[in-house]
Amino acid sequence: MSDTEKKDHYHKVRMERKKAQIDASIARADGEKGLLLVITGNGKGKSTSGFGMVARALGHGMKVGVCQFIKSRTDTGEEAFFNAQPNCEWHVLGDGFTWDTQDRAGDIETSEKGWKVAQKMLSDDSYDMVVLDELTYLLSYDYLDKDQVLNDLMARPEMQHVVVTGRSAIAELRELADTVSEIKDEKHAYKSGIKAQKGVDL
Ligand code: ATP
Ligand code: MG
Repeated sequence: MSDTEKKDHYHKVRMERKKAQIDASIARADGEKGLLLVITGNGKGKSTSGFGMVARALGHGMKVGVCQFIKSRTDTGEEAFFNAQPNCEWHVLGDGFTWDTQDRAGDIETSEKGWKVAQKMLSDDSYDMVVLDELTYLLSYDYLDKDQVLNDLMARPEMQHVVVTGRSAIAELRELADTVSEIKDEKHAYKSGIKAQKGVDL
């Protein structure tokens, strides 16, 4: 056998073994349920990931609800796009970051009002997916009753998927989640003086 033939042979043997392992693990993972996903960490891509799942779900004809806590701007590309989709309901429920408002009592009131909108979706099985964008801050700042939020998440319809985004997800939320991704910041254009860019950041 030439060197190339040997390499081809070993590659084939390795790939056959890998395929058998992957097929077996796919066959084992045959459960179905509504998932709770948490996308956290200090890198860029948390909300983007949530909106990516919204696109996937809508593509399957599923009904999706999005609650944006914290953020108050309603001129983002994602809102313009997804709000125009008949199966997507989009709520901007924030009034800015806490360092902008500097008003803890006001932030709590806004958060509680926002949570009522989320609660409606979490108790309605016509929503196949609910995205709670930047919810993590409302828990880490104690703007919402943690137990209430966790209970509402647990009591949701069995097949409903929920995606929670935001930095510093609290331990209890990570524990409850089925999938947790921590997005790590390695570099961000903002730190080189580039402002938020349309189509990339908003
Ligand atoms: P995106 O909405 O782009 O997915 P994100 O949800 O991961 O970002 P947020 O904390 O919600 O992050 O921040 C939203 C805005 O802040 C975006 O304009 C984003 O580009 C920017 N941003 C996110 N991560 C960083 C970072 N590590 N440094 C500076 N700016 C960031
Ligand atoms: Mg975000």
